[in-house]
Amino acid sequence: MPLSVSKDFHVVESDTKGKSLFTSRKFSKGECIYLFDYWSKKVMPIHVTNHSCEPNSSFNAAGELIALYDLEANEEITYDYLLHPIPASPWDFTCLCQTDGCIGRVKVATRN
Ligand SMILES: [Zn+2]
Repeated sequence: MPLSVSKDFHVVESDTKGKSLFTSRKFSKGECIYLFDYWSKKVMPIHVTNHSCEPNSSFNAAGELIALYDLEANEEITYDYLLHPIPASPWDFTCLCQTDGCIGRVKVATRN
């Protein structure tokens, strides 16, 4: 099911990373890219936003995904899954972000 077309972002598919969310226009630092919403439709922007250990966006307390830097058009939008608004998500995967600060494996610590 295709993601509804947006003037703000679009989905790119690649063999290595699968679906990724890319900007369709410039965003200024501090600007809201989209609102956290996991449930309204079968495919939401958050479903195709990839993790990065050095992300360019982050969720705030109001559930807005905020640009951490000025973003160019056609830049991949990423956030840190370990700072996800649903911390119970059972993340456990090898990271492909290829940044200098990559932690290698994204895994939610289990609570005792
Ligand atoms: Zn990484």
